[in-house]
Amino acid sequence: MDLPFAESYKIKMVEPIYRSSREQREEWIKTAKYNLFNLKSEQVYIDLLTDSGTGAMSDRQWAAIMTGDESYAGSSSYYNLKNSINKIFGFDYFLPTHQGRAAENVLFSVLVKDGDVIPGNSHFDTTKGHIEFRNARAVDCTIDEAFDTESMHPFKGNIDMEKLEKVYSTVDTKKIPMVIVTLTCNTSGGQPVSMKNMREIYELSKKYGIKVVFDSARFAENAWFIQQREEGYREKTIKQIVAEMYSYSDAMTMSSKKDGIVNIGGFMAMRNEDLYNQASVFNIMFEGFNTYGGMAGRDMNALAVGLHEVTDGHYLGNRIEQVKYLGDKLINWKIPVQKPIGGHAVFIDATKFLKHVPKEEYIAQTLAIELYLEAGVRGVEVGTLLADRDPKTKENRYPRLEMLRLAIPRRTYTNNHMNVVAVALKNIFERRNEITKGLKILDEAPIMRHFSVKLERV
Ligand SMILES: *Cc1c(COP(=O)(O)O)cnc(C)c1O
Repeated sequence: MDLPFAESYKIKMVEPIYRSSREQREEWIKTAKYNLFNLKSEQVYIDLLTDSGTGAMSDRQWAAIMTGDESYAGSSSYYNLKNSINKIFGFDYFLPTHQGRAAENVLFSVLVKDGDVIPGNSHFDTTKGHIEFRNARAVDCTIDEAFDTESMHPFKGNIDMEKLEKVYSTVDTKKIPMVIVTLTCNTSGGQPVSMKNMREIYELSKKYGIKVVFDSARFAENAWFIQQREEGYREKTIKQIVAEMYSYSDAMTMSSKKDGIVNIGGFMAMRNEDLYNQASVFNIMFEGFNTYGGMAGRDMNALAVGLHEVTDGHYLGNRIEQVKYLGDKLINWKIPVQKPIGGHAVFIDATKFLKHVPKEEYIAQTLAIELYLEAGVRGVEVGTLLADRDPKTKENRYPRLEMLRLAIPRRTYTNNHMNVVAVALKNIFERRNEITKGLKILDEAPIMRHFSVKLERV
C-alpha cells in the first residue's frame, strides 16, 4: 500500500481560532451587511477568503527576518534576494516593490502607452486595471475549455495560439508592447499553463518582436502541474522546470504574497539592462530606492528563503494535495466544482449548486453567506458582484461562470479543517432545494463594488 501524503513540516507555533454559534454568526453577518469583507477576522473560524499573504512562514524564514539588513542602500538582504531570483529564474536584473500590483505599475509605466493592446490568458484584475488605467486594452486569449467546468483539459490556463496570432497579425505590432502569461491562471480557477504553450508563445512573439512577460504569483504551483501532467517532465526537479519556463520569457512581475510564502512584498525581474534602467526611474518615484523598493530588509530576507522553499521539491506535493483533498471530497458528494482541481483554490459552480436562486439575486454570494452561517467558513464570491456593472448601460454584467472560491492559505490549515469545510458544504447541498431566495443590493461603489457593497436578504 502506498503511504498516504502528509505535511512536510511539523508545527512549532500555533494561533488559536474559535468556533462561534450560528446565532452569533447570524448577528455578525447582518451587521456586516452580508458582505464577508466586512467581518472581523475573529468572527471567522476557517478563513478561505484568499491565499494572499496569509500563509505561514518557516522557522528559517523567521530566522532570516532577524538578520535583515535595514540599510537604505546596498543592504545584504537586497543581495540575498537578488541571488535567489537569479538562481531560480535566471534574470540578472530585479527591482523590489511592496506588492505585485506595484510591480505592474512600475513596469507598465515603461511599457504601456495609450491605445496599446495586451493579449494574455484572463489577466488578473489588478493587471487589467493597470492596463485600462493607461487607456490600453487587455485581450483575453485563453482556450475555450477554461470556461467549461466539466472539461478535464490538463492545462486550462493555456493561451489559444490561433487567438494570439490573430491579435498579432491584425493589430499594428508597435501597439503590442507585450503578451502577459499568468501562472497559474487565477481567473479560470488556478489552472496551469503547459511548457509547450509557453514555448510556442515565446517563439511566436519573437517572430513578431513582442516581449513575453510572466505574471508569476503562482509560478511554483504551475511548475508542479507541468511535472505531474506534461510528458517528459516527471524526472525533472521543480527548479529545473522553473528555469526552463523562464527561458521563454523576457521579464516577470511577482506577487510575493503567494508563491513567495511571505506576508507582503513583490518584485519585477528582467533580462534586459535597458528595461531595468527605465523601470528604475519609476521604481524610485513610486516605491523606493532600487535596493529596497517598498520592502523592509527583513522582508526581503524572508522572501529570499521563501523562493527556495517553494521550489525545493518537498513543499509543493503537500500543498496541492491538500487543495485536491478538499476538492475530491466535494466531487465525491457530487458538489459541482471547476475540474480538474487547481493549485491554490477550489472553485464551486454556484449556478449548478443553487438552482432556485435567480441570477439577479447574486447566487455565488448567497452560497458564500450560507457557508459562513453553516460553519464560520469564509470564502469569496467570484461572480456577478465582482464583475461590476456595464459602465454604459449600468446593468449588471453576468460573467460566464458564477463561482464561490475557497482559497487555501499555504501551510496554515490541516486536513481536519478541510473536513469541516467539506461537511459544511455537504449539509448545504443536501438542503439546496430549500434555498430559493438570494440577496439584493442596498448600496454599492461604481467600481470594485464587491469590497464595500451593502446587501440585504430578499
Ligand atoms: C495577487 C496577484 C496579483 C497582484 O499582486 P498583489 O501582491 O496582490 O498586489 C497579480 N497577479 C496575480 C495573478 C495575482 O494572483
